[in-house]
Amino acid sequence: MAAGDAGPSETRLTRAAIGTRALLARWRRQAGGRCLVCRGWCVDGLCAFCAARFIPARDRCDGCALPLAHAPGLAGEPRCLRCRLAPPVWSRVVTGLDYGYPWDRPIADLKFHQRLDRVAVLLRPLLAQLDDARGSGLRLVAVPVSRERLRERGYNQSWELARRLARALALPARADALFRVRDTGHQLALHRTERARNLQGAFVVSPRHAAWVRGARIALVDDVLTTGATAHAATRTLRAAGARDVQVWVVARTPDT
Ligand SMILES: [Zn+2]
Ligand SMILES: [Zn+2]
Repeated sequence: MAAGDAGPSETRLTRAAIGTRALLARWRRQAGGRCLVCRGWCVDGLCAFCAARFIPARDRCDGCALPLAHAPGLAGEPRCLRCRLAPPVWSRVVTGLDYGYPWDRPIADLKFHQRLDRVAVLLRPLLAQLDDARGSGLRLVAVPVSRERLRERGYNQSWELARRLARALALPARADALFRVRDTGHQLALHRTERARNLQGAFVVSPRHAAWVRGARIALVDDVLTTGATAHAATRTLRAAGARDVQVWVVARTPDT
C-alpha cells in the first residue's frame, strides 16, 4: 500500500467521522443553531441565559409602552401620567422589548439586510404579551413602506412580522389594506413635530379593502415605536376609514422618547 493511502479501517473511520459531522450539522439545523446574542448553541435561537438577561419582565404603560414606575406584577395605573393627560389615538400599544443592545442589531438585520430568519426570535417576547389576542378576531395591518422602498428592499419588514403574528394567533391579516402614498424619507433626522407634519397624508386605506377596515378592530404592526409619529398617522388614517378600534403592536420600544 502506497504511503498516504487510507487502509480499510482508516476509511471506515473517515466515513464514520463524516457521518457524525453530517448528523451534528443536521441536529444543529433542526435545533435552531446559535443564540442570536451570545452565539452559544441553543434550541430555538435565543438561549435561556440571554432571554433572562435581555428580556426583563416589566409593566409598561399601555399608551406609550414605556416602563411604569411601580414594580412588575403589582397592580397599578396602566397608564403613565403623560398618556393620562394626553391619551394616544390608539387604544393600547403592546411591545416585548426595549430597543437597544442587543436587539438593535437583529432588528436592523431584518429591516435592511434581508435577515427574515430574525423574525421568530424577535416576535417571541411580543407574542408572550398577546395571549388575550389569540383568535379574538382582530385584523392585522402592517405599517406599509413606500413603493420605492419596497422595490429597493424587496419586502416590507412589518408585513413579515404581521403575517407571522397572524399565523401564530389565528388572526386575519392583509398586506395591502394600508398604503404609503409617499416616501417620507428618513424620519430619524427630524424633530418630533416635524416628523408628525412630514407624515400627514402619508397613508391611505386601499379602496379595495375599505369594507374590511370599516367597523373592524385592528392591530397595527411595526418593528419599532420611537416617537409614535408613524403609528399615529397610520392609526388616524384607519380610524378615519371607519376602524372601530386600533391597537399598535411593535417588536421594540425606544426607551427614552
Ligand atoms: Zn445566549
Ligand atoms: Zn404612557
